[in-house]
Parts: sequence; C-alpha cells; structure tokens
Amino acid sequence: MIRSWNEINYVEVPNGDIMDDSTNVFIIGTDPVMLIDTGSVVGMPVLLETLNTLGNPNVSTILLTHVHIDHAESTEEIRRLTGASVRFHEAELPELAATTTHDIPLDERIEDGEIIEHAGVRLEAVLTPGHAAGHLSFVEPAENWGIVGDLVTGSGSSAVFPPWGDLQDYLDSMQRIADRGINPLLPSHGDPVTNGPEALQHFIRRRLQREEQILELLDDQELSVEEVRDRLYENVPQDLLSDVTGNVILHLEKLEREGRITRSESGKESRFSRESLNR
Ligand SMILES: [Zn+2]
Repeated sequence: MIRSWNEINYVEVPNGDIMDDSTNVFIIGTDPVMLIDTGSVVGMPVLLETLNTLGNPNVSTILLTHVHIDHAESTEEIRRLTGASVRFHEAELPELAATTTHDIPLDERIEDGEIIEHAGVRLEAVLTPGHAAGHLSFVEPAENWGIVGDLVTGSGSSAVFPPWGDLQDYLDSMQRIADRGINPLLPSHGDPVTNGPEALQHFIRRRLQREEQILELLDDQELSVEEVRDRLYENVPQDLLSDVTGNVILHLEKLEREGRITRSESGKESRFSRESLNR
C-alpha cells in the first residue's frame, strides 16, 4: 500500500526473517521516479508491484541512506532491472566490503551538503553518521522536513552497535538535525515523527542518562562488558542480546576515549572501572 506524507510517497516493504519492522521506501516524482532505499530482497516483490501500480515509471536514481541489508539488499537487482544510477556516501564502502549478503555498485558518490533535485523536490544530503559511518539524511531545506533513514525510528532511537556504529557520532548527528529544527522526521521504520527536535533531544538525554548509570556502576568496582549489561538491563530477550551488548560496548568505548574510565585486561576479558579506582 502506498502511503504518503504531503506529496512524498513511500511504501512499506517487508523484511521477512531479517526484522519484524518493514522498511519505508520513498518514491519521489512520477516518471521518472527517484527511490530512497530499496529494502531487502524479500521485500522486492512489494516494491515492484507498487511501481507497477504507478504505471511502471522509469527509475532514474536510487539514493541510499546507508547500506544495511534492510535498506539496500535489493538495490543491485533493482538497478539491473531499471538501469537506475545508485548513489550513496563513500564512508559506507568499508562496511559494504565486509558485508557478505549483498554488493552494491556505487555509480555516483553523494557529498555532505549536496543538493539533489528531482521532479521539483529539493533535498540536501546531510551526513549523519553513528548508526552507520556514511549514514545520510535527506532534508528539504525550504520546508525543513527530512527523510532520516535510521537516525530515529517511528517509535524510538536506533540500534547502534560495533564495529561500524559510533555512539558519539550518533549523538552528534541527532543534535545536528535537532539544531536545524527539522520536522517532521520521516524514518525508514515506522510512522513520521512529528515532534522532531523534542524527540531527538529526548533520545540524546536518554543515552546520556545511560552513560551516567554506567559511570555509577563502575565507581567502586571493575566490571566486564557482560556484567555491565546484566546490571543495566534485566531479562534481555535472546534475540536482542547481541544488539544490547553492542550498545554497552559502544558506551564503554566512548567513556574510555574520553578518559572517564579505564580498561584492564585480565585473561581474554576486558574489565572497566572508573579512573579514580586506580589512583
Ligand atoms: Zn540500519
């Protein structure tokens, strides 16, 4: 089913076993169209059916917010079927090279700050790393709304995990979009977020509160990643365990970089404590 916000159409394409949430694929213009993300391979029939409903327009360009499987697994095939030119930020290339599920040709790089115009819609590419190194948001500079990929979801902030995620970058990116007052935020998963700046500030505060909790935990004891995780979160469902652990690792790495905690290696395990413990 085609959904829309103002004149911007998007379709929710399913992700099968990859994740419960579907991915919003944005369809800009009427013929030719420009797509933002294409979704996973299992969702491809839904995207093709939607294009069919729209009279099978030419697809001239595919912009990718980032190269994660639920956004870009079908990109190569859609490119092959349509001849579209594929564009994304080059900082995605290392993660793409390490990805075994899909490969995507980069026909033309997108630069931070570049204005991309299609069918009368002007979009500014804004580099918003953190969830992924070359994650882009596409902001309409006059009306100040934005298609923001996984910067947020319709129901919360996004999972950020190693090795390609970076928590400080993620916080900075949320702040960058909040400072510009972008609203609404059209995310890749879920409904538009219609209190953009407030929602972003709320997510930033929550992450910083989490950080304070970690510092408190490490005040008088030395803990491993798993020990920190188990004290912060009770009863984590098995399928979320690696995401949650990854999130804890990124928090610890950030605090360590800032010199607020120290790491000691005991056996194969890293243990963390507040610096004061070692003085
Ligand atoms: Zn993602």
